[in-house]
Amino acid sequence: MIILGSGPAGLTAAIYAGRAELKTLVIAGATWGGQLMLTTEVENFPGFNEGILGPDLVDNMWKQAKRFGAEMIFEDATVADFSSKPFKITAGSKVYEGKSVIIATGASAKWLGLESEKRLRGKGVSVCATCDAAFFKDKKVSVVGGGDTAMEEALALSKFASEVKVIHRRDKLRASKILQERAFSDPKIEFIWNSTVQEILGTDGVEGVRLKKVKTNEEFELACDAVFIAIGWKPETEIFKSQIGLDEAGSVIATDNTRTNVEGVFMAGDVQDYRYRQAITAAGAGCMAALDAQKYLEGA
Ligand code: NAP
Repeated sequence: MIILGSGPAGLTAAIYAGRAELKTLVIAGATWGGQLMLTTEVENFPGFNEGILGPDLVDNMWKQAKRFGAEMIFEDATVADFSSKPFKITAGSKVYEGKSVIIATGASAKWLGLESEKRLRGKGVSVCATCDAAFFKDKKVSVVGGGDTAMEEALALSKFASEVKVIHRRDKLRASKILQERAFSDPKIEFIWNSTVQEILGTDGVEGVRLKKVKTNEEFELACDAVFIAIGWKPETEIFKSQIGLDEAGSVIATDNTRTNVEGVFMAGDVQDYRYRQAITAAGAGCMAALDAQKYLEGA
């Protein structure tokens, strides 16, 4: 069994596969562990009543998978060949063969690409309101973006924050009507139109943003305690493009729960799920994919 990806989906699949005594290889990626490695305190993963640091949670999952015999290599998979069996995955200078593959390569948030955004990531800069909104109770927060994700983030944040400013680069939202209406009617949510973020201000934590009016180039500052970047997500599926069914956004298409359109290739986590994108839902999907793959290998 080859598992591509080492976030909660991939590592949970590895725990189940290892425990089912399948010879299990996790191709973890050069930067392993997925999005949890970018977070600090995780308070909503069941079983950790005091919370746990994202990287510690990943490390625990990996130790658990290793205990049941899973092996891991820290290389990026560069070529996937599902045209014949065994399936072949190239990573580094080697080609690995698997009777079954679980794709758990995740998705990555799109970032603005600012140095200050990188520096303050996990210190007030976030891409997940569900994960981090509770840290900003009665604080001022900003959301960047004008799509469904941005509206959902703003609505989730308004339950905690004292004010939510949505910063959008145009004067029209891309979001669905229903989410737009909800956001417009929320008294805590305000819109800053035709503006782009030039810099996120702060040294050890977010103190504000420096914005630029698109039409006039006028710059101005806005004080806030957190910035949620919500400008879209990109599933990590580049290497599967010619091999497997993907939708328009590049997400793997599920044919039946975790099955893909290639028999023996399964998928789990954010690579398919743009909707929930939680560590716990990814872990659950990893479990399902491993059980489905095990049944497939047993010929059931
Ligand atoms: P999206 O629809 O691509 O929207 C991205 C938004 O961010 C757009 O408003 C875009 O501005 C803005 N943006 C992109 N790059 C930017 C940049 N560099 N600087 C500033 N702003 C930038 O992405 P999404 O909201 O994540 O949604 C992705 C897909 O998932 C969509 O199909 C959406 O409907 C779906 N989704 C659905 C739900 C739901 O149904 N509840 C929830 C979440 C997502 P412009 O408008 O100017 O391009």
